[in-house]
Amino acid sequence: YIDYNQKIDYVFKIVLIGDSAVGKSQFLARFARNEFNADSKATIGVEFQTKTLAMDNKTVKAQIWDTAGQERYRAVTSAYYRGAVGAMLVYDMTKRQSFDHLARWLEELRGHADKSIIIMLIGNKCDLGSLRAVPTEDGEEFAQRENLFFMETSALEATNVETAFWTVLTEIYTIIS
Ligand code: GDP
Ligand code: MG
Repeated sequence: YIDYNQKIDYVFKIVLIGDSAVGKSQFLARFARNEFNADSKATIGVEFQTKTLAMDNKTVKAQIWDTAGQERYRAVTSAYYRGAVGAMLVYDMTKRQSFDHLARWLEELRGHADKSIIIMLIGNKCDLGSLRAVPTEDGEEFAQRENLFFMETSALEATNVETAFWTVLTEIYTIIS
């Protein structure tokens, strides 16, 4: 239960990164509004969405930033990363290339964000099992090597979307409280 007149105790900025078309905007829409739009246009302009949550007896506002079609290498500006306490690094498990680009997204993230940022690796589109191009073990291995949380998700079927955000938010909350 959330009393919307209650004061906000914390604002947690979380950024979404990863190649174009991996499902970042739909992943966010699923979490923030429980929506999925099958023929969504590439994100234009929208900066962030918020969701207010109760954690312990505190009110936390998650402010989640979505790249506005800036997914080309080095096109995401440092303002995007500034102040972020969490990041969702997303690939499409049916597109090997989006997985192969993770290292450079991570390099970019680590170059701009705070050292203590909590990062979750997301293998999205797990509903498309027959088209899988990235084995679960590859995701696990990358996450373990780079010290990231890891989850396979489906924004379409709402699989693990809530859990992924809650894991990151809980971890942030534990560290700062
Ligand atoms: P973005 O460029 O990373 O923001 O990707 P979008 O959220 O715009 O999604 C790109 C395409 O993938 C769209 O056609 C979505 O409908 C589709 N998509 C996103 N998430 C999923 C998912 O979990 N499963 C399936 N099957 N398609 C998805
Ligand atoms: Mg988008």
